Parts: sequence; C-alpha cells; structure tokens
Amino acid sequence: MFHKILIANRGEIACRVIETCRRLGVRTVAVHSDADTRAKHAQMADEAVRLGPAPVSESYLRGDAIIQAALDTGAQAIHPGYGFLSENPDFVEAVEQAGLTFIGPSAKAIRAMGLKDAAKKLMEEAGVPVVPGYHGDEQSADFLSQQADQIGYPVLIKARAGGGGKGMRKVDRPKDFRTALEGASREGQSSFGDPRVLIEKWITTPRHIEVQVFGDGTRAIHLGERDCSLQRRHQKVIEEAPAPGMTEEMRAAMGAAAVRAAEAIGYAGAGTVEFIVDASDGLSPDRFFFMEMNTRLQVEHPVTEAITGTDLVEWQLRVAAGEPLTSTQDDITLTGHAFEARLYAEDAAKDFLPATGTLTALAFPEAIRADSGVRAGDEITPFYDPMIAKIIVHGPTREAALAQLRAALEDTLVAGSVTNLAFLAALTRHEGFARGEVDTGLIARDYDTLTARPEPSEDMTAAAALAVGGFLEAQPHQGFTLWTPLLQTVPLDTGAVKVEVLGPGHYRVDGRDVTAHRNGTTVTANGRRYLFDVSGNTVTILDRATSHVFHRIDPLDQAAEAGAGGDSLTAPMPGLVKLVHTEPGAAVTKGSPLIVMEAMKMEHTLTAPRDGTVAELATTPGAQVSDGDILLTLEPEA
Ligand code: ADP
Repeated sequence: MFHKILIANRGEIACRVIETCRRLGVRTVAVHSDADTRAKHAQMADEAVRLGPAPVSESYLRGDAIIQAALDTGAQAIHPGYGFLSENPDFVEAVEQAGLTFIGPSAKAIRAMGLKDAAKKLMEEAGVPVVPGYHGDEQSADFLSQQADQIGYPVLIKARAGGGGKGMRKVDRPKDFRTALEGASREGQSSFGDPRVLIEKWITTPRHIEVQVFGDGTRAIHLGERDCSLQRRHQKVIEEAPAPGMTEEMRAAMGAAAVRAAEAIGYAGAGTVEFIVDASDGLSPDRFFFMEMNTRLQVEHPVTEAITGTDLVEWQLRVAAGEPLTSTQDDITLTGHAFEARLYAEDAAKDFLPATGTLTALAFPEAIRADSGVRAGDEITPFYDPMIAKIIVHGPTREAALAQLRAALEDTLVAGSVTNLAFLAALTRHEGFARGEVDTGLIARDYDTLTARPEPSEDMTAAAALAVGGFLEAQPHQGFTLWTPLLQTVPLDTGAVKVEVLGPGHYRVDGRDVTAHRNGTTVTANGRRYLFDVSGNTVTILDRATSHVFHRIDPLDQAAEAGAGGDSLTAPMPGLVKLVHTEPGAAVTKGSPLIVMEAMKMEHTLTAPRDGTVAELATTPGAQVSDGDILLTLEPEA
C-alpha cells in the first residue's frame, strides 16, 4: 500500500478520499486554488499545496503543477476524484512518465471510452446493446438532419465529448433541429473543446440505470446497479440502489454486459457502465442500451458502498498499489436499499440557477452519512460546482430508506445561500417516486408542484421575528427576561411584527398567542419544530426543509431599497454573456429569449420580463458580468 498520495481534486470527493486514506494510514497531500486556501479539503489533508488562481484552468486542471506537487511532497500516487483531470488520458500518461501511479484505469482504457461515438462502436463490437442512432464522422448540418429524419423524432443530440449532462439537446420536430444542433455543438466546444456530436433515438419513458464495475486489469466484477432516473436537465438529483423493480434476470444480464464492457478494455479500478432503459413497459432484459462508460469513481458511488458494505476508494487504492482483486462475483451481496440526495446551492424554482454565498449554518442529522466539502462559514464561489453535500441513507427496504431520506432532509440546517433542499424534500414526498415509478422525465413533468413555495405560516413568521429579535435567548426556566422590553416591534422586510412578552416562552405576536422555545438551532413554536439560523440581521428559518429568509430592516437604510423597477434584465449570477438575441428599439414579448448566459459551463436563457421595447442594451456577447448587473432595460410602460 502507498504511504502517501496526492488528491488532485477539491470539495466533497477530496474529503471523501482523505477519509479512507486516514483509516488506512496513508498520508495525504491536497492541492488547492487561491479561492480554496482555507477550504475543508486543504485543511483535512496532512499537507496542502497551492496550484494557482481560482479559475480551474489555472489551478485544478493544471496537470503539470499537480505532478510537480506530488514529486515535491514525496507522494507516490495521484487520486483524481471525479471531474477535472479524472478522465484525461494525457494526464494519466504524464503521471506515469513522472514515475508516479495514477489511481484509476490506464490511459488506453480512458481513451477507448472517452468519446461517446467511439465508445458506442467499441461496445457494439463487444456485443453490448447500444442506443440506435448515428455516431459517425460526417458532421454537416444537412447530413445530420437527414440522419435525424431517418432515426425518427424525437431525437437527442449529444456532444460526443460531453459529460455531466452538458452539450445535449432533445429535438421534437425537424424544424427545431438546426438551432438545437448549434446549441449542442457550441456547448460541446465551450465545455470540452470539441463541437462534434452524435444523434440518438430518444427513448420514451427512459430510466437511467448504471452498473458499478471494478477491475484489476485482467478480471472485472460488478457491484450491482444504481438507478439515477431522477434527473433535472440530464443531471442526477437523487440516486438509489438497487433499482426499483429490478429482477434477478435483468440484473444478471446488465451486470454481464457491464463486465463484458470493462473486460473488453482491460479495465483496472472503479468504473461505471451507464445504460438507458426503455421502461415504457416495465423492465425487460431486452430493453437496455449502453450509453457510455465513466472511467472513474462516480458522485453517486456511496449508494453502492451502502448496499454492498464496501469502501470503493479503498479498493481503488489497493488495485492501484498492485494488489489483485480478491472478491469474486459471488462475494457481492446486496443488502437493503440506499438513497443519495445531492444538496446544491441552486435555485430550483428558477430553473436550477446556480447560487453562491457564505454558508452561515450547515448541519446534518447525526445518524446518516453526509459527504460534504464545505462547513458552516465556508463560501460557495462561482468558480466551481455548487454542490454542498451528498446526503446518504441506508435502510432495510426502499420504503424505510425513503422515510429516512425525508427525515434527514427535514433535519438538515443550511443557511446563507439559496439551496435545493426543499425541492429534494418535495421529491421524497412525491407519490409516484414513493411507488418506485421513476423515469428521467418525472422532475420536468411535476416541476411546478415540486418547486412550489408556500408562503410562510403565521407561526413561522412569528418564530423568525422572535429569533432575530433576540427573544429566544433567555431559557424558559430562567424566569422573566427583565432586559427584554415588554412590547417591541421587529421591523422585518415582510412587514413590522409586534411582539409582546407575556411570560417565559409565552408571547403575543401580532395579536396571536405563541408559545416558543429554543433548543440550540431548533425553535418550537406552537408545537411545530423549525430549524433556524440568525446571522446579523438575517434569519433563515426552515420548516421541514422549506426555508424562508427574513431580514430585519434598519429603518435608516430603507431609502436605498427603492428604485429597482421591473423594467430591466439583470444577471442572475456571475457569468459570461454568450448570445444577445435583440437590439435597442426591438419590440419584445414577455417570455421571449433575449440573452443567453453561461455560468458553470451551463447555458441559461434570460427572457423578457414583460412585453415592451428595448431601450438600452448594456452588454455584448463575450462580456463577463457580475451577479445583479443590469444587462438590458425596457422603455418605461406607457
Ligand atoms: P452525460 O455524459 O452528459 O451524463 P449521458 O449520455 O450519460 O450524458 O446522458 C445523460 C442523461 O440523458 C441520461 O441519464 C438520460 O436521462 C438522458 N438520455 C441520454 N440518452 C438518452 C436517449 N437516447 N433517450 C432519452 N434520454 C436519454
């Protein structure tokens, strides 16, 4: 086994790898950018080396600097995590040329699976079923559109170098083909430096089921499947293992195909073979198709670890250190059911717009596994993936595990940024999901209900006012709080709240009686429990995962608030302006797309807030803009 390794990553996965290393007595070296000098992963490792400025191209993607850091610190091997350099065969070769070990498959195996088109060809040859479509070299728009006609609509255009749901466009009608092709190709170019695409038949009622494989270069086994059908914009949201409705027969067929795929390329280490399953008529062993193989550890690996009782990072380290795979297929047994939910700093109700902010509070219930790369006080910056944590539960049955997941989400305290916590909790309450009726369209179909935000109840508002007004500080048994004025107004941004202290834990709030007690970060108001965080003049209060943020207003500041009308389009996050579809003087209708921005390598379309005429355009394609910048203004309404 290695005595010291370097982890070429950040965030939760770097922390996750460090944890296993600690358990095995392996020393760790972290690398970090300037934005991550005080990040959790950099502080957890035994040593930390600075790579460069915040942008990934100047830090986490700098293979040369990473290899040098490993050599300088005496690390013997490099664990790439996921993303960044994890599937970059040139990096693997450079690591090996420097006399170090890459903890992962060979450059050759990565290359074989690196491009979706080449991988599909290879799998066809290995006898693995693939999605019908076109994956050849000819790329002219006319030719591709003919191919799409032949395949039959709807089709899915995929950037062949794509990953993480980027560079994909579903097309329903021939007349939309060219615009979609341009979009997929542009995203492929900007995210992966490759504009080429392939076209697939769109599978109706698709389920995403993937098989975890593990190889030692000669032999491979599989560790069962994960169902990742719960997706938004082709990105996984909640994953589970086993897949609902999976039969032994189908698992054996998919497992054998996945092992065939891994052995065909002499695979060493942890890998995932992703299949798309046509579930229009239940699960059937003749309706799964190879989509791609991810030649690395995946974000959702913990659900497999939970049901197989393994530590996949430990396996990765052992195989990379030259130990053969000791387990056989028969050693792998699946126990119970596991879920993982991905907690993100993003606004689900605004089409999952990435968010930033300093997490003033972050706490998870103790009984569950939460893999996180940030702590309370840490900042979610615009430079990297805005994941906050993965919440993982394991129960004896799917029903039990789902109940645990719901409870875990409801007991999670997060404040300081917009998050998808309420959305995740809403999914755990979704009836179809509870019945195991999952497909990749579920979230889009029920988007409005899943992202509906109820107004805060009177009790919730009262609890918020009591918390930010400092009323809850005194414990009930301490008797009357002499220092609190008996009648006070708490000026919240939602309106002034009148609080009268009647006795210990008893208040009259805006004329209603409220009994409220605080216990740490919990406040119980009229019998209902809320989690809360007070940070300066801001109180975040969570009612079963739905949070509301109230600000206590300083009356002197109020004048500054006025002035921002509904006549302009502002940047909802820091990013790059890609396209501008309008010009001064142009008439626009509410909802029409005006500006395309890119942030976190994803495109976001900003639409007209109302009908009107463009008065001024304050940006151009290629401009870097900050959160809140005014990009366009409309003529005032007549
Ligand atoms: P990426 O590498 O960007 O993750 P994938 O090829 O793995 O892209 O596809 C991501 C998701 O897109 C899948 O999980 C599935 O939900 C959906 N998808 C992919 N191919 C198809 C298809 N042919 N028909 C319907 N949905 C698809």
